[in-house]
Amino acid sequence: MLITTEKLQAFVESIFRAAGSNAGEAEVVAAHLVEANLTGHDSHGISLIPEYMKNVAAGNIRPNQVGGLVRRDGSILVYDGNLGYGQAVAKVATDLAIDAARQSGLALLALRNAYHIGRIGSYGEQCAAQGLVSVQFVNAIGHQPRVAPHGGRDARLPTNPVCVAIPATDRRPAMILDMATSKIAQGKVRIARNSGQHVGEGFLLDSRGEPTTDPQVMFDDVPGSILSFGEHKGYGLSLVCEILAGAFTEGTTIHPGNPQNGSAVNGMLMIVFDPARTSNVEWARREIDDLVDYVTASPPRDPAHPVLVPGDPERATKAQRRRDGIPVDDGTWKRLLEAAHELGVNFAD
Ligand code: NAD
Repeated sequence: MLITTEKLQAFVESIFRAAGSNAGEAEVVAAHLVEANLTGHDSHGISLIPEYMKNVAAGNIRPNQVGGLVRRDGSILVYDGNLGYGQAVAKVATDLAIDAARQSGLALLALRNAYHIGRIGSYGEQCAAQGLVSVQFVNAIGHQPRVAPHGGRDARLPTNPVCVAIPATDRRPAMILDMATSKIAQGKVRIARNSGQHVGEGFLLDSRGEPTTDPQVMFDDVPGSILSFGEHKGYGLSLVCEILAGAFTEGTTIHPGNPQNGSAVNGMLMIVFDPARTSNVEWARREIDDLVDYVTASPPRDPAHPVLVPGDPERATKAQRRRDGIPVDDGTWKRLLEAAHELGVNFAD
């Protein structure tokens, strides 16, 4: 089915309100999830809601809780999300980092104990909208690992995303590189399973550590694993995400000595800086434009697929979905309606 942004936003907000969120929190979390669908990341959109509702019921998510600063040392901020909805927690924490970076030119945010913070690019966009450059390293705990270390047969790591966000220039919108360190995000495996499709070759191992394209292996009692992107490089990047976002935030890492109760808690180490403190920004913007012009002018191997820059696919999908509606597969829609129904919310078409 296809649904308009406004209808989906209103429906999703009403689900969060029924699950105990105040109107402001329901709006922020719903807007983040709908934006994920708009930008083509259905894995990080409304398909997560049934899982979120289970975790609210289990006490793993605390509605109306945005945590707070536990330490401040100049522009170094340590923030505890206190298991609030991550989309609301990380937005507030990012605003604090933006203020600190505006004042001193550079800020470091160590965020821990936020329930799932969703699409990391959203925090990069928040910084870029203020003319600030940012880098985010994220880890994910509270559930079983999903990604096999390079050369391993079973899952020992999460899909740990990394993001780098560069503000817009005079000619180009912000560049947002926002990617999981696994070959495919776990949510995309879930979407494939929900819609009865197979994933590509070389993405998954089954529970015996053998290659498979069947997404169901990630949901079996003894699950399989996802492979890292870029072989040893993605694996290495994921491992340092665990350390930067888990150990140095005191949020904990994925090893089994820490609790795994089926929730999804993120840690994030974010560096934010004002490019005017390191460069003549007018000059840097021209340099970025010239560089991007040069790189994207490479003759495409397939004329239907010109060279893009990070952030372009999301912008194109957003424009198309805003115009034509957001597609929602039958499996995801059925699960969403069931979760809403349990809270006494019905979809008014
Ligand atoms: P992806 O592979 O679709 O895209 C990764 C990056 O590559 C994006 O910046 C995109 O703009 C860019 N890109 C895509 N095609 C391109 C092309 N042809 N040329 C140039 N650049 C291109 O994303 P993903 O790795 O599947 O991650 C999806 C989302 O999942 C991200 O928003 C990520 O933050 C999120 N995520 C969140 C968590 C969490 O715990 N909160 C965990 C994993 C992933």
